[in-house]
Amino acid sequence: MGAMATKNKLESPYRTRFAPSPTGALHFGSLVAALGSYLRARSFQGQWLIRIEDIDPPRQVAGAIEAQLTTLADFGLQSDLPVVRQSTRLEAHRAAITKLVDEGLAYPCGCSSKELPKDAPYPQTCRHGLPPGRVERSIRLKTHDEVVVFEDAVQGPQEQIPSQQSGDFIIRRGDGLIAYQLAVVVDDHAQQITEVVRGADLIDSVGRQCLVYDALHYPRPEYLHLPLIVDHNGRKLSKSDGADPIARYNRNEAFRLALRALGHEPPPEAISLDAQWQWALKNWALHRIPRGPVPI
Ligand code: GLU
Repeated sequence: MGAMATKNKLESPYRTRFAPSPTGALHFGSLVAALGSYLRARSFQGQWLIRIEDIDPPRQVAGAIEAQLTTLADFGLQSDLPVVRQSTRLEAHRAAITKLVDEGLAYPCGCSSKELPKDAPYPQTCRHGLPPGRVERSIRLKTHDEVVVFEDAVQGPQEQIPSQQSGDFIIRRGDGLIAYQLAVVVDDHAQQITEVVRGADLIDSVGRQCLVYDALHYPRPEYLHLPLIVDHNGRKLSKSDGADPIARYNRNEAFRLALRALGHEPPPEAISLDAQWQWALKNWALHRIPRGPVPI
């Protein structure tokens, strides 16, 4: 029995990650995403990793990485493997982009965002070669009319059509930086993430990310999108707007509120962080997680 359990675990080890961008202090929604992904990993005896998505220096806030890691550690949230900074992975990101261009799956684009229609798919201006007088700015991945179908563990069955959502989308930006949609896939694959667990604000990216998985011949992961935490106006919290830093709350109280947002509020007698952790680890159940949005 023991040998068999070990074998199964090695064959399909569960692994997820929490991947904050260092654009400000972690807010309450970040805590919910970190805690939800951690508890999900532990429910499979799996691993939970932290990856710092620091590939957008203009948006990065000095000291944010250290502050985010300290905040997580204060709640007992520590990465099972050394923390990876995405900025150390640029070579792998660039190699993936080169491969996609070489295979004709991606192409250089000379359009600037100012000249493109807002909220409409890319009009494919540069898809068949840069028009005369244009210079390469960004790189886009080709979309066709694929319907991406997936089952989100909390949000249920989903269908997305990237060619209608965004059209051919950017994988290397006009300023030369690597786009989130590309980097997240290359790194989730490299880190052998089996299930992506994160806030529901990112669910619309799944279709595009699946196209990147397919184009690179990587197997797609599973997905679980946790309820979005919204402020009293129903708006998503944002680190770069300085929304509601967790440090503002009493730690044990914040932990309880985060568990409550995940549908797992411990009984009142579980007051200490440790008692709340014990209760949550023991009682964690997928069906308790609300789809959201959950007001803070
Ligand atoms: N870096 C993103 C953020 O801070 C999360 C990306 C992801 O989990 O896929 O919101």
